[in-house]
Amino acid sequence: MNTILIDNEWSAASNGETIEVLNPCDGKPFTEISRGTAADIDRAIAAARRALDGPWGKLTATERGRLMQKLAQLIIDNTEKIAQIEARDTGKPITVARVDIGVVARYFEFYGAAADKVHGMTVPFMEGFNVRVERVPHGVTAHIIPWNYPAQMFGRTLAPALAMGNATVLKPSEDACLSGLEIAKLALEAGFPPGAINIVTGYGHEAGAALTAHRGIDFATFTGSPQVGKMVQEATAANSVPCVLELGGKSPQIVFEDADLAKAVPVVVKAIVQNAGQTCSAGSRLLVQESIYEKFVGMVAERFAATRVGTPELDLDCGPIVNKKQFNRVQQFINDTKASGVPLIAQGQLAPEASKDGYFVAPALFGPVPRDHALAQDEVFGPVLAVIPFKDEADAVRLANGTDFGLVAGIWTENGSRQQRLAKQIHAGQVYINCYGAGGGVELPFGGVKRSGHGREKGFLALEEMSTTKTIVQNYS
Ligand code: NAD
Repeated sequence: MNTILIDNEWSAASNGETIEVLNPCDGKPFTEISRGTAADIDRAIAAARRALDGPWGKLTATERGRLMQKLAQLIIDNTEKIAQIEARDTGKPITVARVDIGVVARYFEFYGAAADKVHGMTVPFMEGFNVRVERVPHGVTAHIIPWNYPAQMFGRTLAPALAMGNATVLKPSEDACLSGLEIAKLALEAGFPPGAINIVTGYGHEAGAALTAHRGIDFATFTGSPQVGKMVQEATAANSVPCVLELGGKSPQIVFEDADLAKAVPVVVKAIVQNAGQTCSAGSRLLVQESIYEKFVGMVAERFAATRVGTPELDLDCGPIVNKKQFNRVQQFINDTKASGVPLIAQGQLAPEASKDGYFVAPALFGPVPRDHALAQDEVFGPVLAVIPFKDEADAVRLANGTDFGLVAGIWTENGSRQQRLAKQIHAGQVYINCYGAGGGVELPFGGVKRSGHGREKGFLALEEMSTTKTIVQNYS
């Protein structure tokens, strides 16, 4: 399959090589994608550069917005088709895949509607001078996304960039990218001019590294692991190219003795089981006040044990892990935690239909986990929840802030003053009170602090990230 899109033309990789795409439910190949090269990246960047001076660059913000909203409607019209592709590629339950496609449509709708609502400003200056500050696109933007929410990520990264008038080059994940390719076909149908959206499929260390190190890009945004994020930061810094990094997390759910426990239980379980724990904002640490530890952990354990894992059609709580490497990593975490003597409190079940060759992992609840244990500190990126008791509010804050990450935190308490104190003291890009959004809506700015990354995507702030300013000073005296 030719999966490289440059100048609105689909092509194979420059050397004709391909990558097999495996079904995570049985480990078998079912299609292939083009293995893009540095030469393909060169071509894509050249096309994007031409687009800025061509028909794409000449569109008004309103016209760009209309195109994006047309694409949103085409995505809605094709939801079932794209959801089936997404479910097959990632193994996620079909209902979840359908929701994800709705979210991609919403990205194009939201940013399409916002495209002509970004205003510049004027600045009072010396007599005889007129100063205006315009918001302008960066130019050619580079986008690297992971495999856990391939469709959602496609919309999240490209929609704000396109709204601001950038010409984009996307390198999706080699592990799952088919839904984005389908949406790109719809973008051509919507009438996006050549070079506005370019896609080079391939491996991270090949096409991805060539893209982020390229002197022809003006901005980069990366979502993925902290390790690769560091490489991307170094590669872009070498050319003084700004970059946004959305990396991992070890996000806490903090449950106080005065919380509505019945309300918290399903949310706490879903926040780690959803997408088989392969969510950057997964609630992977459960911090529980000592006074309710037995009671609340018992309630969570009951629900955890009832979770079921299977193929997309079975539409259970979650599907498999995306690939063999990640599967082995998650299993290793579970085995190491058991071997270290941490009690396994409860475990979900695999559906009988789940193939032995698939990458299915039964969700695991461990606790009490020592605070310095690997499971309390490291991101697993699988359905494994670490329960840790805490004494009082000060202890909870210390514990919540006691990792390298700072992406999301959930606070469960009915005490309004405590809600405010904790929201202020917790180091995270997002704090949820008596709820847990795991990423939240398209409208909400999203991103991390500490090793979870920097810069913001989603919401109006993404439009600022995906653009820069130009100050124009006119002497009219
Ligand atoms: P990854 O870092 O291995 O890969 C992410 C992307 O980077 C892929 O497209 C990959 O091909 C590419 N890549 C790999 N090496 C590269 C290189 N040298 N140069 C440029 N690009 C390269 O991560 P993953 O395994 O795909 O995803 C899992 C990780 O992503 C987890 O750690 C998770 O927390 C994180 N994540 C974060 C968010 C967020 O919004 N913060 C969202 C999803 C996933």
